[in-house]
Amino acid sequence: MGVPLKSRGRVLGALNVYTQGARHFLPDEIDLLAGLADQASTAIEKARLFRETVEGQQLLARLYRAAIAMQSSWDRDERLRAFVHAAREVLGFDRVNVFLLTSDGSGLELATSEGDDGAPVLVLPLGPGAGAYYEAFESRRPVAVLSDEDLRSVRRLDHAYLAHAYLRSRRFVVTPLVAGDRVIGVVSADNKPSRRPIQPGSVEPFSSLCQNLAIALEESRLYAETRAREQEATKLYGVTRQIATSLDRDRVLDLIVTQTIELTGCEASGIYVYDRERDGLVFGRGLNLDPDLTRGVFLKAGEGVGGRAFKERRPVWTRDRTVDPSLGYSPASRVLMEAKAPRSYLAVPIMSRDEVHGVLMEYFFSPHDFSPREIQLVSTLADHVALAFENVRLLEETRQREQEASTLSRGLALLNQATRALQRTLDVDRMLSGALLELANAFGADAALMNLLGADGGVLRSVGHWLSETQRRELHARRSGITAHVRETRQPLFIRDVEERRDMVHPENFTRGVKSIAALPVLGQQGRALGVLLLYYKTPQLFPDTVVRLLTSYADQLATALENAQIYEEAQTQRVRLAQIFDSTSDGILLVGRSGDIQAVNERAGELLGFDAGRAGGTPLAEVLARLAATTPEAEHGLAALRRLLENPERGGAGDLDLRRHGRVIHWVGQATRAAAGAAIGLTLTLQDVTHERQVSQLKSDFVSFVTHQLRTPLSGIKWMLELAGQTPTISEELMSYVRDASDSAERLIGLVNDLLDASRLESGALKMKPQPTGLADLTRSVLDEVTTLVRARGHQLSVEGVETAPRVLADPQLLRQVILNLTSNAIKYTPAGGAVTVRIGRENGVARWAISDTGVGIPAAAQARLFEKFFRAENAATIETEGTGLGLYLVRLIVERLGGRVWCESEEGRGSTFLFTLPLSE
Ligand code: ADP
Repeated sequence: MGVPLKSRGRVLGALNVYTQGARHFLPDEIDLLAGLADQASTAIEKARLFRETVEGQQLLARLYRAAIAMQSSWDRDERLRAFVHAAREVLGFDRVNVFLLTSDGSGLELATSEGDDGAPVLVLPLGPGAGAYYEAFESRRPVAVLSDEDLRSVRRLDHAYLAHAYLRSRRFVVTPLVAGDRVIGVVSADNKPSRRPIQPGSVEPFSSLCQNLAIALEESRLYAETRAREQEATKLYGVTRQIATSLDRDRVLDLIVTQTIELTGCEASGIYVYDRERDGLVFGRGLNLDPDLTRGVFLKAGEGVGGRAFKERRPVWTRDRTVDPSLGYSPASRVLMEAKAPRSYLAVPIMSRDEVHGVLMEYFFSPHDFSPREIQLVSTLADHVALAFENVRLLEETRQREQEASTLSRGLALLNQATRALQRTLDVDRMLSGALLELANAFGADAALMNLLGADGGVLRSVGHWLSETQRRELHARRSGITAHVRETRQPLFIRDVEERRDMVHPENFTRGVKSIAALPVLGQQGRALGVLLLYYKTPQLFPDTVVRLLTSYADQLATALENAQIYEEAQTQRVRLAQIFDSTSDGILLVGRSGDIQAVNERAGELLGFDAGRAGGTPLAEVLARLAATTPEAEHGLAALRRLLENPERGGAGDLDLRRHGRVIHWVGQATRAAAGAAIGLTLTLQDVTHERQVSQLKSDFVSFVTHQLRTPLSGIKWMLELAGQTPTISEELMSYVRDASDSAERLIGLVNDLLDASRLESGALKMKPQPTGLADLTRSVLDEVTTLVRARGHQLSVEGVETAPRVLADPQLLRQVILNLTSNAIKYTPAGGAVTVRIGRENGVARWAISDTGVGIPAAAQARLFEKFFRAENAATIETEGTGLGLYLVRLIVERLGGRVWCESEEGRGSTFLFTLPLSE
């Protein structure tokens, strides 16, 4: 009897009972056996479940261990190895292979070859041609080919790949590797070597193991990337720190090119620096580049990859320059490039604050795809380079300022020295020579020279020398030379390259190896070119602004020093010359200070006044005068006038000192000494020995006095005789007129003699005055009465004003009458017929004032000052009055002055004159 063993509707087997002989099974027996079969099937099912559970648990445990094993390392390959091992050991596959998506996503590349050592590098295209591999990739589901039927329904692999032994498999499983939402590859497994069938139950665990692998691979990739970035950042930090701490431009450039290669793994690197003056990029430094390629390279904005990065201010790159149509090169650059240049370029601008300093370049010698990360990295590096450039620039500027400051202070100290030296010596050349030597040292010149110019612009002489030579060098400025040019333009001239100014530079400079020259005008106060300062350099100079400024201010300082020297020299010469004149003059000169002390006195003055000039300095002049007064009483009159002058030097004055006891008459003239601003600071007294002149004039007056005295008596006789003759009634009319003429002439002659006598008596003081109160009105009226006939003959209009209030004066009436008569007859004489003559008598400021105005010919302005001189007549006087001696006004002056008054005249030629005098009042 057989009873089926069933479990949940499924037959697991059968329970058979056998007997020796035929037997009729009883229903109870059948039930019993059925019950037994039920229990057996339950037991079997339980056992099976139990086994399956245990096996499942074991498998899970192994799979779990496999997953853990895959994580034991971060390395991709290690993880792959762990995976393959697990797939083979745990799931029992013979061969397991992992295909990973290529970086460009175009194919599946074999990443393992476990189990088949001969497997070559294999890439399957990501497309239908890849058959089941593509299917699994696309569907993201495992593809299991476990039977011929499965084989027929699966996508076929392209024939081309069937050549590959590994791919010729008829039973296999392909599972996608899914990480997140991306498929990163596929895994295939089979048992081809052992020809064992693939257990359907292994497909599911294999798939989950692959899932683990996908995550493990993704983790490892991310880890590797993070590590790479971390390393990159660390490296970048190291590099940038090094760059940032280098303050030397050359060192910074070196560091940049080496570190660019180190950091990015490129094959060559370079740096171009912006040159402001040429307005373009100049090659700065390179590594692994052919020297021919970089020698003297100059890129304009927009030219080549570097020029474009500079112009567009962004990274620019080319995968392969040989096929890049966007790159423009000059023909010269092109030839060079074809021969030696790399193929692949990346250029990043080096920028800070909107300013582009240059371009950082990296190169590959074969076509290269620049990843965004690479570009980012080089840009970051470029930013640091910009900072480093900035630092270098700041440092250079600071250094330059320091240098400038020290040069300036050195220059100033030097000028100070020179100025001080000047106060000790008049040797301008020696001072200049020292200053120029210091100047050349301070400015790094090989020679410094000063061409001193004369007033006519010609070179007087040259001072200066070459540093290497001790001996002075004469250099004559040529008409076309630098000195002449600077003198004419009055502007500094900086020649950076002497070759460019061959027209100007002296040939000798070329033989000496001079490369650069600075020439500056040294301009004095009034803008006169005192000289031209020249600096010669044997190394080419750029003459930056700072140097130009410094040299210009130095030239100014030099001008001041030179001018001071000249002024000093002039003052010295002047002083010596004045001292010589002072000592050698025949006049005595005394300089008296404001306090009355003698400040300076020459020999002659001492001699004239009888004191030792050598010891008189500082002595009060009053003391000298007092001594003189004590020894020579007759000088008292003159000394009194001098003392008055001393009290009030502003007035000035002149007078004679009668030192008869010493046999001398000294004429002195005193004048206030004034400072430049005009204030009186003392008195200059000039003394002249006039003994001889006074003697001569005394002799003259004596002679005139003698002659006139001798003439007076015979003249009176002649006049008397003629008068008698005129009274004789018998003489003819004709004879009568001769007698009258002779009488008039005699009259005039007597007048002249009288005037001369009066003059000489007044001059010598022999005329004795008898001052008494005198009425001006009476005197005037009596004079006018006397001239009535004359006035009437001329037809003049005569009037007098102020007679009623006319004051009385203290005067000698005799002499005063002569004054009034002289002035009145002049007014009548020098006024053409029909004129008007007016006398005005009055008082003013406590003195009497008498004036007579006429409408006559007047007095030329030039003659007015000399009117009161002896014998002076103005030119226009002769036209109206031929007769005249020029003695009248002279006498008027002598008399008025002796009476203590003043006389003067106011006139305009052709319109009339007014003569005025003042006299002390008698009350
Ligand atoms: P004289 O009259 O003899 O020439 P004076 O000494 O009186 O000598 O005068 C000197 C000169 O002064 C005159 O020659 C004349 O040129 C000038 N002068 C004097 N008074 C007058 C006047 N009222 N008008 C113009 N000229 C005058």
